[in-house]
Amino acid sequence: MERSHRLRDIRSLSEQEIADLVKELGQPAFRAKQICEWLFAKQAGSFDEMTNIPKKLREQLAEHFTFATPTEAAKQVSHDGSRKYLLEFSDGTSVETVGMPSRGKLSVCVSTQAGCAMGCAFCATGMGGLKRSLTAREIVDQVIHVARDFDERVTSVVFMGQGEPFVNMDATIEALRMLNDPNGMAIGARHLTVSTCGVIPGIKRFAELPEQFTLAISLHSAIQSTRNKLMPGVKKYTLPRLHEAIQAYVEKTGRRPTYEFAMIDGVNDTNPEMEALIDFCQGTLCHVNLIPLNDTPNALLKPSPMKKVETLQKRLQMHGVEATIRNSRGSDIDAACGQLQQRLSAQQKA
Ligand code: SAH
Ligand code: SF4
Repeated sequence: MERSHRLRDIRSLSEQEIADLVKELGQPAFRAKQICEWLFAKQAGSFDEMTNIPKKLREQLAEHFTFATPTEAAKQVSHDGSRKYLLEFSDGTSVETVGMPSRGKLSVCVSTQAGCAMGCAFCATGMGGLKRSLTAREIVDQVIHVARDFDERVTSVVFMGQGEPFVNMDATIEALRMLNDPNGMAIGARHLTVSTCGVIPGIKRFAELPEQFTLAISLHSAIQSTRNKLMPGVKKYTLPRLHEAIQAYVEKTGRRPTYEFAMIDGVNDTNPEMEALIDFCQGTLCHVNLIPLNDTPNALLKPSPMKKVETLQKRLQMHGVEATIRNSRGSDIDAACGQLQQRLSAQQKA
């Protein structure tokens, strides 16, 4: 164990570095191509899996390199087939990841940070503060872990687990590109979705990317004072500025952003709240996802009654705004972000 900490993750080597290494070990050049295929196309998790590589060479590689893949600290399986994992990295930091199968497709929800500094009132992750940001490799490894656990190809990834992707922007973009790489996991850009709480510099940078990645924005209220209370971490990115940044994104990309709106009883489901949301959306290219609030660490916040959720959906549609009601998956397995981790740490303390 001690030793593997000191060894370098072989997957951090470039194809050129692997070619040089193979040459150095006196092996024919085609071995480099085989090794790269195992590492990047087949997402191998150990040298033993590289069955067409001579055992001697595999042993030589293992002397110098390791696979710094995360370990599964916990797993919950839902009645609806979704699986939630607590994955632990080599420094002991852990994050949550969810795999959601549906009609031959497999969607993965990844974390971009361990914890989060944004402090949203309804979010279990926000309660604990930020531990650290993840590397691109650590984000991609979550997807690989789920693909291997289901033994299926991952068809889409949402960056909606723990953390705020746009305060870990470089790693987020690098991870998106690794997932999109035709020689790697080859997941279509449109099937890669990043959710932000509204970090404007991140939205601007996202709009400049040549790839057609999908953008989701956690709105939760179109009234400034309510939004400030619910999402104190993005107070400085005010609603008018957010609206402007999103319109610039739409103009630049022609793509339809999604607004996430978790409906909270008596907080953002009142008549003025509904009117403000309609105003924010009307006449713009967007799609609203209405989500009945999941259990939260804040006992004062309760989900809106379903009737109100349906009313808001109808009112948005009447004004020409696309809106769907998203039922949270895996509600029997601590589905909302941060809940599994919270429960485990509570158990550990008990
Ligand atoms: N930090 C990013 C992405 C991770 S959070 C963001 O905030 O967008 C993923 C989504 O889960 C966000 O839309 C967030 O608002 C939502 N969420 C967090 N806690 C929730 C809860 N208790 N009920 C419903 N949605 C919740
Ligand atoms: Fe962070 Fe998103 Fe949770 Fe807010 S909702 S605390 S931004 S993870």
